[in-house]
This record gives sequence, structure tokens and C-alpha cells, in this order.
Amino acid sequence: MSNFVFSSYRDLRDALLSKSISVESVVSAYLSRIEAKAHLNAYLAVFKESALAHAKVLDEKLASGKPIGKLFGMPIAVKDNIAMKGEKLTCASKILENFTSIYSATVIERLLSEDAVILGKTNLDEFAMGSSNENSAFGAVKNPINESCVPGGSSGGSAAAVGGDLALVALGSDTGGSVRQPASFCNVVGLKPTYGRISRYGLVAFGSSFDQIGVLAKTAEDAALVLEVMAGEDPMDSTSSNKPVEDYARASLDPKQLRIGVPKEFFTDALDPEINAMIQTVLEKLKAQGATLAELSLPHSEYALATYYILATAEASSNLARYDGARYGYRAKEITDPTDMYVKSRSEGFGKEVKRRIMLGTYVLSAGYYDAYYRKAQKVRRLIRNDYLNAFEQVDVILSPTSPVPPFKFGEKMHDPLTMYLADIYTVPMNLAGVPAISVPIGLNAQGLPIGLQLIGNLFSESTLIGASKLVEATREHSF
Ligand code: GLN
Repeated sequence: MSNFVFSSYRDLRDALLSKSISVESVVSAYLSRIEAKAHLNAYLAVFKESALAHAKVLDEKLASGKPIGKLFGMPIAVKDNIAMKGEKLTCASKILENFTSIYSATVIERLLSEDAVILGKTNLDEFAMGSSNENSAFGAVKNPINESCVPGGSSGGSAAAVGGDLALVALGSDTGGSVRQPASFCNVVGLKPTYGRISRYGLVAFGSSFDQIGVLAKTAEDAALVLEVMAGEDPMDSTSSNKPVEDYARASLDPKQLRIGVPKEFFTDALDPEINAMIQTVLEKLKAQGATLAELSLPHSEYALATYYILATAEASSNLARYDGARYGYRAKEITDPTDMYVKSRSEGFGKEVKRRIMLGTYVLSAGYYDAYYRKAQKVRRLIRNDYLNAFEQVDVILSPTSPVPPFKFGEKMHDPLTMYLADIYTVPMNLAGVPAISVPIGLNAQGLPIGLQLIGNLFSESTLIGASKLVEATREHSF
């Protein structure tokens, strides 16, 4: 620990419980760094007063000897598409710029009940649509490792906050990679749980059959701890699973028992050679410890990106119909005709990428094209899901890159949406299949840019995924 920068929650908790530091001093150190690094644009709102006031209450709680929560004093940042009562909920969109939430998401209630401290709301691509954070209506986020690069997206503010020590942990949402890809760009862990593992009550909907709340943290153990607190059934979200929540943070694996699948479709010329080499080094180390490696095939992989961009845009076009200027959010001025009001409010309130997706989604759902695109994509989705479920009959985890390329420069991909969509090639299949996946940092490339690898698990096998992630993390500490 130096300057109250912690490399894991365990270090922070030990220091707090030994009373060598107070929650207030930790929170104020994070708040000072947020201020000093304001140019990163990671936060859209900072809760300076309420976070400090909460910290004092927690210090008193500890001093009085009352039992303390699992996340006692953990400074957390929250992506600004997750609702907190009485706070703005902008989704980085002009259309919700002045919208204040009247309730809190279930995940927020659960974090607070375990004594976490919420520092503020983080920047994102508008409505979580994007892979670089350049689609935010409130300006892009800079990558804390190299400020000329994007932090990834759409949870770029959350990833930059954790990577830049402006929060110890952050919440994100992952519809097609938005937790994992920015995590890999900012040198942090990013966990997307199984679809249904965490309640989405209070998460603004993008693609409802894909969306999951996820965690960005410095270690797999920290991500697992926060997952443990947030996971579990919620009567407010009918898609939340009633499967028992496990002790994810404590999960561990004997490498000799671990069977790792390496999909041949993921290691092609499309992958940056240096990323490939770094992944191979990790694979060698895991093998040296006794893990079994098996090449496998996920035959429908080449259709994943197209399938995702049909289905996710279809769902988005439906979900975003509610922003009509009539009920809440931005309303165009001085218009009396309701149709004009809808058209102008939406035209002025939404950004370019969001409009592109609404148009694409409306098109694939339209009467003449529904069968050719939407229905067909649903069928392909099932095939992709089966590829994964079949693979997990032979292996415990699948190992792949998180991103085909290292963090890129601002403006590099904005001119061409297709090039931008390709950034998601390794992350969207898991949302199509509903399976959990995690990005774990494996080091810096020759340019000093962070690289992550992805581990993918079977449905509700988060414990296995965390155990395997700890083994990958350990390959950085020892050379075998
Ligand atoms: N980058 C992907 C997209 O733009 C993923 C977004 C997400 O996971 N929210 O759709």
C-alpha cells in the first residue's frame, strides 16, 4: 500500500480491520485522485459528500464493535446505466441528461447492505453501444495506461477508474463484451457472469436477452467477492436464477484437474500475432503445471458477430422506443404536434451510433425482413449455444483472446462501424450462448499496452472460472 493505492480488497480490509487506516482516509484518497485525474473523464458524477459521510458512518460502526459487511469500506464506482435512487441516470445520452432515478438497482442495495462505499457514476458509450467509449455524449474516456488510446467500451469509464486507481472495483454491464473488452484494455479483470446470475432490476435495458451486470476489479478474487454479494434470485427480475450462490471468492483449482479447450476458430490470422504469442506463453505455463490442453472446434463462430448485431439491435430498437419525449427524458422545444415531438425529441436526443442501431433493429424486425434476418439469427444463436454446451462436455474452461487487437488510438475506428464491431469478435459469442466469461490481464505488449485473455465457462460454473483465473494470475508471479 502506498498513497492508499491497494492491489486487492484483502489488503485494504486488513488495513481497515487493524485500524491502521480509516474508511474516511481511504475514501478521501480515492476522491483526491479522481479530482487529480479528472481529465481522464472516467466519471460522470462523483458523490464526494455522500461517500465521505458514508465512510464516517462505517468507521463508527467498526469502532462500536458491530458486525461489519463483506465489502466493508470497499470503494466502488458504478456505470451510469445502473440506477441509484436520487441520482442522475444518464446512460451517457443527451436524451437522459436530466433524468434522476427514483429507485436503486437491486445490485446497489446489495452492495450497500455489505458496507461498500459508492464513489460515483462512470462514463460509457451512449446506452452501452460501442467498443471505445467514443460514443459518449459527454466526451470520450482516456485510457489510464496510455492516454492517447481508448479505454475500450462500453464500460470504459469503469475500466479506466479501476485501471487508474480511481476506484478499487467498478460495476459494468456486458451485452456483447462491454465488461471484458475494456477490462483487457485497461489492465484489469472483467467478469461477465452467466445470464440470469445477477438481477438486472435497475439496469437500463439494451438487449434484454443478452444484458448482464458484471464486475471490473484488480483481481479475480475481488471480482468474485462482489459477484457473491450481488448474485442470487430477485423477485424484481424474473430472469434472475434461483440457483444457490457459491463462495466464489474462495474458489480454487488444482491445475492437474483442469481441462482447457483451445478453439481453433479463435486463433487465426485475424488475431494480433503478439497477443497470440503472449497467450501461448500462458498456455505453456499452465501445461507445465499439469493442466490438459485440448484443441476444440466451435464451428459456428464465424456467424456470431452478424447474429449478435441483428439480435442486439432488434432488442435495442424495441427497448429504446420508450424514450419518446412524452414520459421522461429530453423533449424537443416548442412543438405541439405529438408526432413531430417524438421525431424531434429522438432525433435531437440520440447520438449517431444509437440511431444507427435503432434503424438496423427496426429493419430486421420489419414485416418483409423478419424471417430473413431476425428469425434466422435466432436459429443461428441456438447453434452457437449448442457449440459451447457441447464443448463443455469435454473441457472445464475454454481459453481465448479477449480482443483481437491491443488498445487502439482515438479516431482509429470511428469512421467505419464494421471495423469497430470487429473489436467484439471474441466477446459476443458468450452473450449469445449465455455462458459466463472473464478477462484476465496477462501483461503489456512491446508498446506497453495491456493485453488480456479470456476464460469461458459452462452455465453457472463461475467457481470454476474464478479458480482457473487465479491460476492464470499466478502465471505472472512465477516462472515455471
Ligand atoms: N461493443 C458491443 C456493442 O457495441 C458490446 C456492447 C455491450 O456489451 N454493452 O454492442
